[in-house]
Amino acid sequence: MALLEVRDLEVSFPTADGVVQAVRGLSFDVERGSTLAIVGESGSGKSVSTQTIAGLTRGARVSGTARFDGIDLIGADPEVLRRVRGAQIGMIFQDPLSSLHPYYTVGWQIVEMIRAHRKVTKAAAQQRAAELLSLVGIPRAEQRIHDYPHQFSGGMRQRVMIAMAMALDPALLIADEPTTALDVTVQAQVLDVMRSLQERFGTAIILITHDLGVVAEMADEVVVMYAGSVMERAPRRTLFYRNHHPYTEGLLASLPAQGATGARLTPIPGSPPSLINPPSGCPFAPRCRYAFDRCWSVAPPLDTVHDDPEHRSACWLADDAQARRSARAGGSD
Ligand code: SF4
Ligand code: MG
Repeated sequence: MALLEVRDLEVSFPTADGVVQAVRGLSFDVERGSTLAIVGESGSGKSVSTQTIAGLTRGARVSGTARFDGIDLIGADPEVLRRVRGAQIGMIFQDPLSSLHPYYTVGWQIVEMIRAHRKVTKAAAQQRAAELLSLVGIPRAEQRIHDYPHQFSGGMRQRVMIAMAMALDPALLIADEPTTALDVTVQAQVLDVMRSLQERFGTAIILITHDLGVVAEMADEVVVMYAGSVMERAPRRTLFYRNHHPYTEGLLASLPAQGATGARLTPIPGSPPSLINPPSGCPFAPRCRYAFDRCWSVAPPLDTVHDDPEHRSACWLADDAQARRSARAGGSD
């Protein structure tokens, strides 16, 4: 059994202008100790999905299931969710300052977090806080637990967040654009910290990013989202070398260099459709250079591609992707 099994997750928000369909029919598994990347432009539904799974969306209509260690988190009791979040699911976000309290030392915040879930003495929690800070590579951790969030640089602050998210040894870490605000060198260091903690503790990671360079470095499995729907889902190696969706193709074409981190997606011409009354056909049709009649009327299902049972694509032309690549390579592929 996978650590997390998400099936047919749908999330919508009633607004004055109509119902926003933020996530439509999302399914994926996260295996213990592995990294799943959810990639897509902003507004594609990647953050909303994981926030919903963690019970953090307010005022949303939600259906589907998200089994974490056997417990369905969708519709779970708020008390159960609170226990799971923090103790078994750690979360880190792009901006640590929004999650760290400015008026308390980072040590105090980690100690409180530990003591909210575990019966340990203050001294033991304090020692654990220092250990955690040193584990994420913060020098002079024993002293630095007495510092306030603003006394840390952006990269060091993100390390503090990771330490806090790992404080209770969670089975799953949800990282939403954890390195987006950092410069490339610091970004690589923070990703290294995450990877080494994963190796050491067997933590599974859901990494939300718009950066394919980060995906290339970190992911085992990739979900590509667009306008609330999954366009493609595949192991990293086949996604990068044999993608089967025109949207993924466009994203990859905008990558400057293979495996380079910090590469922002240059938008594919056009913009995503409205999520209020979304079109009935393929959501990518308005921007797809291969679109044909059927694409406009019927949305393609997320199906396995013919030559790879681990690879799924929601495109009527998924099985022609290899031919398209060959044509572009002048038949030499
Ligand atoms: Fe393009 Fe049609 Fe495939 Fe959608 S289904 S990605 S419009 S070819
Ligand atoms: Mg987001």
